[in-house]
Amino acid sequence: KKKVLDDCSKEIIPSYDWFQTEDSVTVVIYTKQKDMNSELVIADVQEHTLRGEIIVKDFSYLIHVELSYEVYEDMIVQISEKVGKVEFVLKKKENLSWKKLGQPLKSHNSFVKCTDRDLYYRKCKLLSKTNVSHDTRLFCVELPPGTHLQVPVGHHLYLKQTITGTEIVKPYTPVLSCLVSPFKIPSSNYKAQIFFMIKIYPGGLFTPVLDTLQIGDYISLSNPEGIFKKSQLEDVEDLVLLAGGTGFTPMVKLLNYALSNSATLRAVKMMFFNKTEDDILWKSQLEQLALQDTRFDIQFVLSEPKKEWPGKQGKISLSLLSEFVKRSKHESKILICICGPLPFMEQGIQFLQTLGHSGNDVHCFTT
Ligand code: FAD
Ligand code: NAD
Repeated sequence: KKKVLDDCSKEIIPSYDWFQTEDSVTVVIYTKQKDMNSELVIADVQEHTLRGEIIVKDFSYLIHVELSYEVYEDMIVQISEKVGKVEFVLKKKENLSWKKLGQPLKSHNSFVKCTDRDLYYRKCKLLSKTNVSHDTRLFCVELPPGTHLQVPVGHHLYLKQTITGTEIVKPYTPVLSCLVSPFKIPSSNYKAQIFFMIKIYPGGLFTPVLDTLQIGDYISLSNPEGIFKKSQLEDVEDLVLLAGGTGFTPMVKLLNYALSNSATLRAVKMMFFNKTEDDILWKSQLEQLALQDTRFDIQFVLSEPKKEWPGKQGKISLSLLSEFVKRSKHESKILICICGPLPFMEQGIQFLQTLGHSGNDVHCFTT
């Protein structure tokens, strides 16, 4: 507790209370945080248990109880953003008067650094699996009805499978269902669906097993984590995205968010590095997006092209970057995001440094 108080003043430690009506139980959390929002609240309710995690800066507050009586799984989560109040409205299965909320479970009412909080997994149903390329698939999973979870732009989560008796977890970055006009897909419960673009490695440990999942099978999915903040895009005029292979995945939501929300953005340029033309993920969607939005420009670079490839060739290099990473206006605010194989990122960061870009100019997607 002392450690927590050292890091964080006592005033901001959240607290909770609860009240009931004939047919509902409401758990209220006072976060004492002004800019609360839906992405900071991750909650899971099952018949007998409630687990609600609230992110307050770098800390996590947890409500975790074995409920006195059964509730339905379709909980309502209400967030009063300005006052920082979060309410979980649970529907009672029986109209009984509850004497207490329930029994505390592990880490109930605790407030710890996010990095010290155990990852929580819930089972999600595989809804669809479609091919994006010869080795990469788009998986759509459905969150259980009692789960409230939104994955922030640039954040990843973990998928867990038991493989020959051992639990294996690997990180994946959710994408959108498509890049071009994603908001045209009407779906009443679209927030409950999460899309992943995952490359299957025949010699890999995790992905070949993932690829054997059938529609309707279940897979465990963790809470999101990540350090990217939307505020990094504030006032940005030039956004440069450098992606290698599936390092494209964090760029999907980022591209969509930046193009639809930034008032200052003048240019978004993406350089997408792949081995062959067949490896390029969502090539035609990226080309279509570039036609749709004049601020967006896409450049493909192949490291193992066929002879007839008319575009750029090679791996990430100082000459490619010095030509590409340019401000659209003298001294404009720039953000460069990079993601891909480790050596690709390491070299990329070095080249960017040589070109005078480091610190707040550069964001690197990693765990
Ligand atoms: P692995 O067992 O890790 O093997 C991968 C490849 O390396 C295979 O070809 C294998 O044969 C080879 N290999 C393994 N060990 C060796 C060795 N010792 N020597 C030589 N070769 C070896 N991936 C995605 O597809 N989509 C995403 O959205 C995504 N998001 C990610 C987000 C983050 C933050 C991070 C860190 C990674 C992300 N990844 C993503 C990668 C993902 O986590 C896995 O690493 C990937 O799916 C490979 O897992 P695997 O167990 O199937 O393969
Ligand atoms: P890949 O092997 O198909 O390579 C794609 C391109 O990356 C190559 O064409 C080349 O230009 C470049 N590249 C690959 N190896 C390189 C090297 N040694 N030096 C310089 N450039 C190199 O890529 P893939 O199989 O799709 O792998 C994607 C990688 O991205 C994985 O390692 C995955 O873990 C990582 N990833 C990370 C995140 C994250 O958020 N950190 C998200 C998604 C993927």
